[in-house]
Amino acid sequence: MLRELPPIKVDALVIGHGASGLMAASALASQNNNVLVVGKGATATSMSTGCISYIRKDILRQERGAIDLEALARSVHPFNDIMERGSLALEEVLLQVSSFFQRSLSDQGLEMTDDAFHFFDMLTNAGTMYSCSIAPSFTASGRLDRLREGSLALLGIEGHRDLDPRLVAAMCAGHVDGVRVRPYWRKLDCMGHGGMTATEAAARFKNGGTQELIKTISDLEEDSVAIPPLFGLQSVHKGMSELCSESEKNVFELVTPMSLPGLRLQDAMERSAVGHGCHLMKNHLVTRLEVKRERAVSALIETPTRRQAVSFNSLILATGDLVGGGLALAGREVVDPFSTFKVGWFGKTEPLPGQTRYDAAMRQVVEAGYLVTHEMRLMTKEGRPFENAFGAGSTLASFSFPTGVGLGGELLTAWIAAEYAKEGS
Ligand SMILES: Cc1cc2nc3c(=O)[nH]c(=O)nc-3n(C[C@H](O)[C@H](O)[C@H](O)COP(=O)(O)OP(=O)(O)OC[C@H]3O[C@@H](n4cnc5c(N)ncnc54)[C@H](O)[C@@H]3O)c2cc1C
Repeated sequence: MLRELPPIKVDALVIGHGASGLMAASALASQNNNVLVVGKGATATSMSTGCISYIRKDILRQERGAIDLEALARSVHPFNDIMERGSLALEEVLLQVSSFFQRSLSDQGLEMTDDAFHFFDMLTNAGTMYSCSIAPSFTASGRLDRLREGSLALLGIEGHRDLDPRLVAAMCAGHVDGVRVRPYWRKLDCMGHGGMTATEAAARFKNGGTQELIKTISDLEEDSVAIPPLFGLQSVHKGMSELCSESEKNVFELVTPMSLPGLRLQDAMERSAVGHGCHLMKNHLVTRLEVKRERAVSALIETPTRRQAVSFNSLILATGDLVGGGLALAGREVVDPFSTFKVGWFGKTEPLPGQTRYDAAMRQVVEAGYLVTHEMRLMTKEGRPFENAFGAGSTLASFSFPTGVGLGGELLTAWIAAEYAKEGS
């Protein structure tokens, strides 16, 4: 039977517990707002590589290497909209977001290497090249420009599925000029027999298990050693520091999606939101929104056994894209599952200058449906801006990865949505 809990009231309700929702919630809570975050389902954030850029590299290239704020605005549609109205100093916002984000993660034990205005290249666990501006420190220490003229061991651990060193060695031959790359497979007693996921492997390394690995790494000839992600958030700093200092080598993780790096980012952001004072209801779904004219006034939160109404002054919708479940398909149409907000459609997009046909096709797919905003305000289905409901993250146009900016652009939208929501709280 469904239990009805007493209704609650908050300053701001954030729907969606990925990077965007948690960033918006933390920003609001850090300014003394009473914030509730409700989220259900795996987030795209937890599947990501945890590596971040605020601007798309193709746009940067078109600007011949100079960071140009107009180019940044063009790469993220809502900012373009806002900048045209002259209501936002993007340069300031970018620095604020970047420093708030880094501090919040660092407080939770996730150190990131920050250079918001430049790109560096690293290798992924598929052997492809990956460029970004901000990465976890023990991933960024595998920057290709720092490996040049050195030697690199790719260390696969039997039973661990995240790194096949032979595959990476074969794939990366063209990307890593001047680096001598050699693959190794090693068996570690602590891993036992059979395959295991990264999370299972991390449990083995949580309380020790590193001594055997340190010996294995020390025995390799190479100066730098790439390993799969082995540690969860709580032990990553200590574990990786130990591997580096005791082996006296540059030990780093390859850029790895669908594994521990995304889970660590998710974990750190959740802890940070709670640390800033947010109330986080995980495994809860917002099933309905009540709207009065251009104001969203309350929502219904449900689990299979409980139901609770929450009223609020401001709403931030950070429910993710089609992958995240923030938008849905009805036949060939992209719709908003709440049947409340206006969903846009870019129609046929022409390739941007310098864009390949593949990129253009991808862009068309990702930009096919999105929530329409006016200065971050969501719109009624009839096209009138809401007074107190704001969109953030990949549910907005152009933010989905890989064609959009991804996490960096989404964090920016979340920060700005929080700025607007603050006024209503
Ligand atoms: C495999 C993979 C790799 C990626 N790698 C990168 C990368 O390296 N760099 C990068 O920048 N980006 C990357 N991305 C993209 C990036 O992860 C996403 O764009 C970003 O995480 C989206 O964040 P978000 O907060 O907007 O949404 P999400 O992280 O998806 O969070 C939204 C959450 O809200 C929940 N939700 C939806 N509706 C409701 C509701 N009614 N009630 C409660 N909860 C609800 C959803 O279930 C979801 O869990 C990757 C994505 C994937 C899938």
